[in-house]
Parts: sequence; C-alpha cells; structure tokens
Amino acid sequence: MTTTPRFPAFLVRDTPEGAAGSVEWLGRDDLPAGEVLIEVGYSSLNYKDALASRGNKGVAPSLPHVPGIDCAGVVVESSSDTVSAGDEVLVTGYDLGGASWGGWSGLVRVPAEWVVPMPAGLDARAAMIYGTAGFTAAQCVTAVSDRVAPEAGDVVVTGATGGVGVLAVAILSKIGYRVTAVTGKSEQEAMLRELGASAVVGREAVVDESGRPMLKEKWSAAVDTVGGATLATLLRSTAHRGVVAACGLVGGAELPLTVYPFILRGVTLAGIDSAKCPREPRLEMWRRLAGDWRVELPAKMITEITLDGVAGRVEEILSGQVAGRTLVLPT
Ligand code: NDP
Repeated sequence: MTTTPRFPAFLVRDTPEGAAGSVEWLGRDDLPAGEVLIEVGYSSLNYKDALASRGNKGVAPSLPHVPGIDCAGVVVESSSDTVSAGDEVLVTGYDLGGASWGGWSGLVRVPAEWVVPMPAGLDARAAMIYGTAGFTAAQCVTAVSDRVAPEAGDVVVTGATGGVGVLAVAILSKIGYRVTAVTGKSEQEAMLRELGASAVVGREAVVDESGRPMLKEKWSAAVDTVGGATLATLLRSTAHRGVVAACGLVGGAELPLTVYPFILRGVTLAGIDSAKCPREPRLEMWRRLAGDWRVELPAKMITEITLDGVAGRVEEILSGQVAGRTLVLPT
C-alpha cells in the first residue's frame, strides 16, 4: 500500500484566546476541490495575509484556514486541458487565501482558471518577490500611465516602504516618472532613493485635515495604499486631469471628501482590485512585470521566512514595521 506524503501548512484555528495559527501536517484530502494541484515553491506575506492570520472574517470567512493570497511552484496533478503536470505556474488573488485555503502550504489545490503560466524570465522566487503586491503595483502604474505622461509632474506613492509601495516606486521610476515617496520610516530614505524616488517625505505631508474642499495642485498622479484622510488629501491636491490609483486601507477605510476634485479638476479616482482582475489584463500585468517593467529589489529588501516564522512577521506587518517584501517558504 502506498501512502501520499503529508505536507506542512500554517493553519489558523479558533482557540479560546481567539484565532491563532501554527504549523500542522496535512494530507491531500484536506485540501479544497479543484483541477490543479501545485507544489508550492514560494508564497509571500501581504497585508491581507496578516489579517487572515488574525481570523479577520472579511478576508477569511471561515476557520480553520490556511492564509497566503499568492503562491508559485510546479503543477503536480491536473485534470484540466490548459494546465499540465510539470508546468511552472503562479496564482495570485481569486479566493486563494480567502474563501479557499492559500499558499502557506506545501501543496495547494485550485481551479484551473486561477492558474497563470510562469512568464518567461521569472521563476517562482522572482514571481513571489512581486506576488500580489507587485501585481497590484502594476495595475496602479497602468492606471497612472494610461492617463498621465511622465512630463506632467511628480507622482506620489504612499506606504512607500510596504510591498505595493516599493514596487510602485521602482516601476514608476524605471519607466521615467519622477516619484515622491511617502513613508513613516525616515530611516528608509536611502533605500527609497536607491529604488528611484527623487524625493522622500513623511506621512504628515499628505494629510490635510483643514476641511478645505480643494488644495494647491501638487501631484500629477498618486498611488495610494493608505486610504482615509491620506487618500482624501491626495485627491484634493492632484493636478487638473490627474489620477489617483487607490488600492489600500492601512490608514483607514473612510473617505472624507467633496465632489469638487472630480468636477472642477477632472481628477480620476481609479479603483484597483487585484483579487478579481479578469484574466486578459491579469496576463498582461504579468507580461509587463516580467518584461519592460522588470525591477529587481535590493537583497536587503527581501526577507525569507519559513512557516515557523510567519506568526512573528504578521505582528510586524500589522504594526507597519516591515519594509520591502517577505517571502514564505512552505517548509
Ligand atoms: P504592507 O504592510 O507591506 O505596506 C503597508 C505600508 O503602509 C507600511 O509599510 C507603511 O509604509 C504604511 N503604513 C502602515 N500603517 C500606516 C498608517 N497607519 N498610516 C499610513 N501609512 C501606514 O502592505 P501591502 O503593501 O501588502 O498592502 C498595502 C495596502 O494595499 C493594504 O491595505 C492592502 O490590503 C492593500 N492591497 C490591496 C489590494 C487590492 O487588490 N486592492 C492588493 C494588495 C494590497 P511606510 O512606513 O513607508 O509609510
């Protein structure tokens, strides 16, 4: 009789003290249904994963749960015509690590339509250095570059040392935009300049709570990961016909605003949603990330952890201390 090898996963369970995660050994039968079984080489830690690790119902509706909204690896089994055993692939978003168990696991099983062939020029590690953060940054940069040329003026990026932030700064500067990075970590100024930022300012520089409906025009465009008063300030200080790509809420989900930036300056508020991005633009984003927009983060901005290390790292990301990207090896 043959037995299928078991594999480790970071499982979040309800405990009397609240949701808590630990490494457990699972079998293939524990995984959700799906056409494609993938041996995970790398996953990563995104802000949303940290929320799932805490049992946040908005991200992970039911426990027990395996977080990890992205993963890259090799297909082990497939019952789909479009994906074959041995293919190198990546998955970001959809319900991975949300309603369905995610990438912090030796194996994942997913529907074939979630699976993206590994773009030429990337491997599993490079793909997860981008991960959902890079995919989101690429969508934000697309929203900016579709509407505003580099000559139009400075583009501001908030949460600049975070996953989305560092990749947005790097890609925008690579394709010719002058970037102002907004950070709460002044000690990371040199790193942000190394990525291509031409100016680095504190978070308070993009928070105006005067209540004035419009502010002096300061930016041609913005990539915002913070939300709340920051997003409202950016919209009120974006130049005529500019664009603000809004993807995050680390600073708050509310939006205290009037309609004036839209109807007097023609500012566009571009909403960015990575999880349910349709397949064609999804493939196009990965082509860009592997091609003309390819950026390499310096080694000091990439931290690799195993499943044993994720609980501690979750605390750090939720308190805004993490700079750069964290890769998760499912061992
Ligand atoms: P990270 O935790 O890696 O980065 C967030 C950064 O925001 C921090 O590093 C910090 O940067 C800054 N920050 C943290 N707390 C605050 C605060 N209270 N006020 C202002 N700035 C703060 O997260 P990610 O880059 O993975 O994600 C960023 C946001 O984007 C999250 O809200 C996430 O949920 C969202 N997101 C949305 C997606 C979508 O599809 N819409 C997809 C991916 C992410 P610094 O110290 O430099 O200021």
